[in-house]
Amino acid sequence: MKGSSHTAIGVTVGAIAGFQVQPDLYTIAISSFVGGVSALVPDLDTNGLASNRITISKKFAQWLMQFVGIGILIAIAYQYFTKGFAPSIILYAGIGLLFFIVSRFITQRRTLTLTGVMVMWLGIVMHQSIGILLIGSYIVIASFLPHRSYTHSLLGLAFYAFILHQLQQEWAIEGLLIAGIAGYASHLVADMKLLPMNRRGVKWFAPLWNKEW
Ligand SMILES: [Zn+2]
Repeated sequence: MKGSSHTAIGVTVGAIAGFQVQPDLYTIAISSFVGGVSALVPDLDTNGLASNRITISKKFAQWLMQFVGIGILIAIAYQYFTKGFAPSIILYAGIGLLFFIVSRFITQRRTLTLTGVMVMWLGIVMHQSIGILLIGSYIVIASFLPHRSYTHSLLGLAFYAFILHQLQQEWAIEGLLIAGIAGYASHLVADMKLLPMNRRGVKWFAPLWNKEW
């Protein structure tokens, strides 16, 4: 199913969930948004539309890494010519070179990994937020998973619900938890094999039972 269809369904179930929590316009608007975004999250394990929307573009990631790599090399050269040789120069030269090399080989999926790490780092350093740290860790994990595996299972849904629970406590947004769960779950249901347009199904009970539904 396409990302736009998932979003449309997610917005609808999010709005319904929000209405159940508190029937006012503000709660319903927030819940629709949360439902729509949450309905895209399971497909972070693909190279498709959903992940492109979240990922900093590959070109930018490459450029950033090369910039950091060159910056480190310039700093080392400066250090060497002003203060002479020190053992730490070799270490930093290694790091600079590594950044440069990695930037040449990075794939869309590793860019996603990098994005997740950046989100984790932002969560801790800037916001001291466990919720944002968990979002980052979800992105990192999803970037290594085969398509339609754990993100498309009850295990993935449970982990996502845990993240939402944490965020709801931190931000005190009414309906966040329920609308998010509804949106995420709607994606899994819409990906099921019982719908004629889906060739593959959802492994609800992975890794315990790998039957596709
Ligand atoms: Zn999917």
